[in-house]
Amino acid sequence: TEIKRVAILGSTGSIGTQTLEVIRQHPQIFSVEVLTAQNNCDLLIAQALEFNPNAVVIGNESKYQKVKEALLPHDIKVFAGQKAIAQIVEMETIDVVLTAVVGYSGLIPTVNAIKAGKQIALANKETLVVAGEIITALAKENRVNIFPVDSEHSAIFQCLVGEYYNPIEKIILTASGGPFRGKDRAFLETVTREQALKHPNWDMGAKITIDSASLMNKGLEVIEAKWLFGLKTEQIEVVVHPQSIIHSLVQFEDGSIKAQLGLPDMRIPIQFALSFPDRLKSDFERFDFTNYPQLTFEQPDLKTFRNLQLAFDALAKGGNAPCILNAANEIAVSAFLNKEVGFLEMSDLIEEALGKATFIQYPSLEDYIGTDEEARTITTQLIKRKV
Ligand code: NDP
Ligand code: MG
Repeated sequence: TEIKRVAILGSTGSIGTQTLEVIRQHPQIFSVEVLTAQNNCDLLIAQALEFNPNAVVIGNESKYQKVKEALLPHDIKVFAGQKAIAQIVEMETIDVVLTAVVGYSGLIPTVNAIKAGKQIALANKETLVVAGEIITALAKENRVNIFPVDSEHSAIFQCLVGEYYNPIEKIILTASGGPFRGKDRAFLETVTREQALKHPNWDMGAKITIDSASLMNKGLEVIEAKWLFGLKTEQIEVVVHPQSIIHSLVQFEDGSIKAQLGLPDMRIPIQFALSFPDRLKSDFERFDFTNYPQLTFEQPDLKTFRNLQLAFDALAKGGNAPCILNAANEIAVSAFLNKEVGFLEMSDLIEEALGKATFIQYPSLEDYIGTDEEARTITTQLIKRKV
């Protein structure tokens, strides 16, 4: 079999580094063709020296010289800037693009990769939240598969193997509930950045960790699931499962439910997205029932964690509403991380931005780009007024 040549967008992040761990274990199966990072040039250089890619891109252009000096002697091409990240995915020698950048920045590179006929291993859920309709149509048109990396969506994908002709009745996305599960609004009023950054089960980048604490992550995943699996909003349910052992479930038309289980370890879904349809041998720690005498389930508290409700509403409204939700959330999260707004204020900002930004029922890609910008400006102004 031929070696699969992988481009990793965002190789220095949580998903990016775990992807390289997977590739390191299977040098006969995968090779690294391209690596990209935004600021962390030291780690990017170290990764390139280990994996010897064809090319790397550093998003922050002020770090170009340093990366170039380190890698040119090793015959590794070096590029810089946001445009270069968006273009590098078209390189002929890439088989699959794993999108592990955070937020809206993944949209244009993913569009270009699909147009160039590259298979996609998608971690960057925001791309499907912003423009799911366009992305899935483009993928179909270019005969590109989008393999989910997100653990819940990988679980559903794994449950669907062998079920191609069987309609889904509904899917059930599991949520850990995050660090503030069971807390009330009075408590959330005062929580700090540091408290929100401590996730009980997963070690992830800052943005998705805050999204997990606010349940926006689950909201984004509901939208992601709709597009990945072609579902109606009513077919998507969320259940809180604090142990994060069941990664999600699918219910078929006969009432039978399939679930996928395992310890919370992103390397399993990352590896499956790259190796599908094969399963590769791994030495990841195995699940042991004696450590988990109880798997429990509860309803999400949509009144306290309003972001999940806002995401369901945006999805039901359709058009560019999820794009507005995403942009407002990105601005709100970064303001929370900068201690400019409180935890609960994030939902207020998103709701206000959804009310103020121009609604477009049938947006083009250009419309989405405009909506993202408009929603960011609106949310930034709302924050300025509050501070
Ligand atoms: P991290 O913040 O850990 O990593 C983000 C990566 O993207 C880094 O390599 C970073 O470079 C790069 N990057 C940051 N900003 C930009 C930008 N504007 N343009 C280009 N590159 C950029 O994030 P995660 O790995 O946690 O998450 C990545 C994606 O995967 C997100 O969409 C997230 O929702 C999704 N995901 C993550 C999971 C997890 O367990 N972490 C689970 C499921 C989904 P640098 O290091 O130089 O800043
Ligand atoms: Mg997830």
